[in-house]
Amino acid sequence: MSIQVLVIEDEEALQGLLEYNLQKEGYKVAIEGDGGEALTAVAEHSPDIILLDWMLPNKNGIDICRALRKDPKTSKIPIIMITARAEEEDKLRGLDYGADDYITKPFSISEVIARIRAVLRRVNPSIAGDIASFGDITLDREQMRVRRGDRTIDLGPTEFRLFEVLIQRPGRVYSREQLLDRVWGQEVYVENRTVDVHVGRLRKALNQSGDNDPIRTVRAAGYALDETYQS
Ligand code: CA
Repeated sequence: MSIQVLVIEDEEALQGLLEYNLQKEGYKVAIEGDGGEALTAVAEHSPDIILLDWMLPNKNGIDICRALRKDPKTSKIPIIMITARAEEEDKLRGLDYGADDYITKPFSISEVIARIRAVLRRVNPSIAGDIASFGDITLDREQMRVRRGDRTIDLGPTEFRLFEVLIQRPGRVYSREQLLDRVWGQEVYVENRTVDVHVGRLRKALNQSGDNDPIRTVRAAGYALDETYQS
């Protein structure tokens, strides 16, 4: 699983708690503490889900949420709003600004994880389940196996993770930096062209029998699963 969670929260104790526990659950975690930098952080990390505190320095969570919903590039990213008190939660429920769910502080970490799973499952079943599919290709996370039609595709572990990232959000363009971050991790130094090498191997494996290429190369931007391929 390489699901990226962006936590936008200014309390350091909570930042640490969420980062540690979500990483332990297998999520990739990025943290932003400044409301004014939130939109930049979203553009940089391109998260699969956002935990967004209401009260933040420089820009509040509701304004951030509205801005994210307005931009077609970010309008579909699920958002769980964090509020300090139950009265705030009541107030939030009456506001039309587009969050997918709410959590009230103080919360337990198991509650946060359950909400994240539920929201992800709701918005994108293929991101949360064991099996993701795209056209005639299926990826089984539990068995770490990819099939195309009735053929099993042999993939190395890096190619498998790469495909797992791409299949989570068909059509979305991932930059080489984003793929490096998700597949290899931030701590590892890998050159950008290494991504090209592994995408090349992934393509070769997927298209072995002369099938159509499901991966689109976007010049100067990166790679995506080609949405037109499925239809
Ligand atoms: Ca706060």
